[in-house]
Amino acid sequence: MSRADRLVALLEERELDCLLVTQLVNVRYLTGFTGTNGACVVTRDARLFLTDFRYVQQAKQQVPEFEHLEASRELLGDLAAQLGGRAGFDDAHVSVRAHRLLSEKVGEGVELVPGAGVVEGLRAVKDDEELRAIRAAVEVADAAYQELRAAGLAGRTEREVARSIVRFLEDRGADEVSFPPIVAAGAHGALPHAAPRDVPIPRGTLVVVDLGARVDGYCSDCTRTLATGSLEDRPLEAYEAVRRAQQAAVDDVRAGAVCRDLDAMAREMVESSFGTGFEHGLGHGVGLEVHEGPRLAATAEGSLEPGNVVTVEPGVYVPGEFGIRIEDLVAVTGDGRDVLTGFPKELVTVDG
Ligand code: ZN
Ligand code: ZN
Repeated sequence: MSRADRLVALLEERELDCLLVTQLVNVRYLTGFTGTNGACVVTRDARLFLTDFRYVQQAKQQVPEFEHLEASRELLGDLAAQLGGRAGFDDAHVSVRAHRLLSEKVGEGVELVPGAGVVEGLRAVKDDEELRAIRAAVEVADAAYQELRAAGLAGRTEREVARSIVRFLEDRGADEVSFPPIVAAGAHGALPHAAPRDVPIPRGTLVVVDLGARVDGYCSDCTRTLATGSLEDRPLEAYEAVRRAQQAAVDDVRAGAVCRDLDAMAREMVESSFGTGFEHGLGHGVGLEVHEGPRLAATAEGSLEPGNVVTVEPGVYVPGEFGIRIEDLVAVTGDGRDVLTGFPKELVTVDG
């Protein structure tokens, strides 16, 4: 069953006559189109794809399952003309201005209805082809950690290491990085989204390295916290607390596991053994975007199902001292899980 066919089944559930898809990642997912201007309308019995003259040829090759309409300079107006009945639109991504324009242009009797999350729900369950691309993106990211282990960290600046990661991933066949790498030594690691600095990494510290590659459009996401020499007891204890909680949460990933329970369990484990923990969610889905559904967080709804690919990434952040995060990418299977990330989770010392 094609993705558009699966979407039609969801339209019926939501009592929509059609869905207007304008967010490019969702357009790509449904149609295969990789250009920067395109949209589609899916109804129970029609699939329409619109792009402008620059992409007409590309779209003919990439989007075989849709009927093609060449758009004028005003893509939204052209799309509005195709809508009928109860028409879902992506209210999480359509601007107020675009919505006003759509409302002005739709025909008589068309009702614009919020339809956010319909395509995202499909995207949360990966097929084999998507899993292959994610695995390839994980493999090249694993190799980047092996390279860091070999090259060492002490004496290099965070920014220099971050640049070398980007080069390495691209040289090894990634389309690009899935996000700018985080390389954060010592106290800087206590900021979960630290930007790399022009500061040499000292010996005897922890370094949080969070990186991901994109292959065939699909992302990977991995964090390891590496040591540059021997450490004091407190960071070592914290590392063990995070590692144990991370492993316990990974072992609990399975179809039917309640997303918010996984988050609560890992959080409680870190806090009870180390006294402090992490404020971000335990994990998130990864696919065409590095952050997508399902979320593993205190406020998350729902439970895992086969085909979900999620990160599991608890941490400890001690302001002014250090940060630790360990993040694996895990695929939910019919009878358990498949941990995609391969780099070891025991503390690795890189400048021994
Ligand atoms: Zn990450
Ligand atoms: Zn992540």
